[in-house]
Amino acid sequence: MTPAVSSWQNLAAALERWRDAGRQPVFWLRDDDAVAPTAPLDRLVGLTARRGVPVALAVIPAHAERDLARRLAMQPHVTAVVHGWSHQNHAPAGEKKQELGPHRPAATVLGELAQGLKRIRVMFARSAPLLVPPWNRIDAALIPALAGLGYRGLSTFGPPKPAPLRLVNTTVDIMDWHGTRGCRDHAAIVAEIVAGLDAGFADPSRPPVGVLTHHLVHDESAWDFLERLFEITTPDGAGRWVGVDALLGD
Ligand SMILES: [Zn+2]
Repeated sequence: MTPAVSSWQNLAAALERWRDAGRQPVFWLRDDDAVAPTAPLDRLVGLTARRGVPVALAVIPAHAERDLARRLAMQPHVTAVVHGWSHQNHAPAGEKKQELGPHRPAATVLGELAQGLKRIRVMFARSAPLLVPPWNRIDAALIPALAGLGYRGLSTFGPPKPAPLRLVNTTVDIMDWHGTRGCRDHAAIVAEIVAGLDAGFADPSRPPVGVLTHHLVHDESAWDFLERLFEITTPDGAGRWVGVDALLGD
């Protein structure tokens, strides 16, 4: 038996614990960097439609193409959310990349974020006022102003922190950005998901498991992982995959 097989069994066991307790764990999926309809986007949309998994699709407003909106118009399970403005790095070389960092005047950055929300709202049949900062980073000083621009939530990566608007973070990133730039080892990803389920089982106030994907750079291993994850978490109400509206409390 390979370790990967036993790790999927651990996930099945974790889901069974929830089921035995008459409870259902909550998952959500955020996929980043959409600008145009592509074959990988079709694959994501098809896979998630088949499994009944809602998608929060982080669209880069400045580069979003009309064809993307047209492609998604008939896909009620996909909701466009706001991925910064143009996904441009303004941090100096040697610093972590940031579009929404402290490198420019706050008024400039907030102006872009207001414009980004408007553009996504106008272009897409289904959108939600959720800000997904590029590279999952935003200057903390900007966050109190987001509600005034119309944002109802903020989504970065990692454990929740106190925030003046609803924070809906992703918690599990399937890609190996610093190594192969393909999918991470499946067993390692599954172990993180199981840890999230166990933590949520012990403490129901814990946020849901938020899975982060990037359809444009998925290798076959990434697609296989998602196929397998949905296969094990969706049937018979094993888990509940929720959309952005549920996360924002609508
Ligand atoms: Zn991005």
